[in-house]
Amino acid sequence: MVSYKSKSVERISLPSREERERNLQQAQYNVFNLPADAVFIDLLTDSGTGAMSDEQWAALLRGDEAYAGSQSFERLESAVSDVMGFEHVIPAHQGRGAENVLYGTLLGDTPDAVVPNNTHFDTTRAHVANQGAAPVDCPVPDAHDPDADEPFKGNTSLEELRAVVDDVGADQVPLVIQTITNNSAAGQPVSVDNTRRVREFAEEIDATFVIDACRFAENAYFVHQREDEFSDATIEEIAREQLGYADAIVMSGKKDGLVNTGGFVATNDPDLFDRCKQRAILYEGFPTYGGMAGRDLAAMAVGLREAVTETYVADRVEQVRTFGSLLADVGAPVYTPTGGHAVYLDAAEALPHLEATAFPGQALVCALYREGGVRGVELGSFAFPDTDRPELVRLAVPRRTYHREHFEHVAETVKTVLENSGAISGLEIATDPAIPELRHFTAGLEPVSP
Ligand SMILES: *Cc1c(COP(=O)(O)O)cnc(C)c1O
Repeated sequence: MVSYKSKSVERISLPSREERERNLQQAQYNVFNLPADAVFIDLLTDSGTGAMSDEQWAALLRGDEAYAGSQSFERLESAVSDVMGFEHVIPAHQGRGAENVLYGTLLGDTPDAVVPNNTHFDTTRAHVANQGAAPVDCPVPDAHDPDADEPFKGNTSLEELRAVVDDVGADQVPLVIQTITNNSAAGQPVSVDNTRRVREFAEEIDATFVIDACRFAENAYFVHQREDEFSDATIEEIAREQLGYADAIVMSGKKDGLVNTGGFVATNDPDLFDRCKQRAILYEGFPTYGGMAGRDLAAMAVGLREAVTETYVADRVEQVRTFGSLLADVGAPVYTPTGGHAVYLDAAEALPHLEATAFPGQALVCALYREGGVRGVELGSFAFPDTDRPELVRLAVPRRTYHREHFEHVAETVKTVLENSGAISGLEIATDPAIPELRHFTAGLEPVSP
């Protein structure tokens, strides 16, 4: 049941079909190049794109911009302590800044380290690799099965984890990460039981256990729904229990911090805190602001408390689930069960006439914009060259932003696209940027003639 109403609104409009076609050409068939005002329903990402509450806007005005020891920082500290259970907090400009601070600190001393994670998010993978370490994914086998009806497809595989450590030796594994929810595995949740086991294993091999907590509140909601032990617990109790197994967490405020930018590292280990602080000063700023304005720290402090309120998070996750059902009802090949922040479409199934080399996911993304002004993102062979990932298209849902009518429009758009799918041509890369891992942000494409 919806738990908010609109107090401020932003106009959106659907450009004409001719304009949409022209916009696509000008963007070189890469929707990252579209101006946002040419997009009708923007499902590119849920990162920093949500609406803040009136309480957050009010907190923004009370922001304290002192360089050191601001009241806004104290408010953030007490929110992180109450909501997540950590005493020491180091703010950062966003999640990847926090990753740089924490992973730079933890991995600096181990050459050729190996770092297991249920699945590394892109920036996590890049930061681990940037420290000279090897990121290894240990998802459960069901994670990449779009039809497996399992409750916790985001879990870490303990078998895989053990195999990695047996292979390289415990000394080479100073750090184990778990990402909740598992963003790169369709936003699937992780059970508290799995977190507990991974923690025990990390202890056994004397590794630091870090939780990437970007979507910790959405994860707690799934635990509440699906893990028997926690059916009577509150979201806040579950969040504290699950995060409590970590030695440290990294957080992007742009997700369950309910703000437009920001992030932090948090820990209860005073030594780790001291070591992280030095690196934070170097890269982010003095450790009581870390690259954030005081007003943004203040808004994030309020956002964290709102994220774990039952009404907010139930509405959030159920909205994404309803969106998934609307799409399934028009016959779209959706990844099930729906995750916490997005609905994923299987483009290989939607456009079976296109080979992976013709980028079916990107072709589908372009078709959705052409047909309905909808912007999604390709997460298949265009975004991840040289991997055998499924050809997924992600439709991410910004928090507290769109309503049922918007999602009905998207479902109608998908329906029309699927009905005429045979006419959709593949794409090829016209301009290839220097870093292949980041090509989907800036590469230009063109249609291949059938
Ligand atoms: C978004 C995200 C990050 C990085 O956060 P940014 O704020 O985008 O820098 C790290 N891990 C996960 C799981 C994320 O979803």
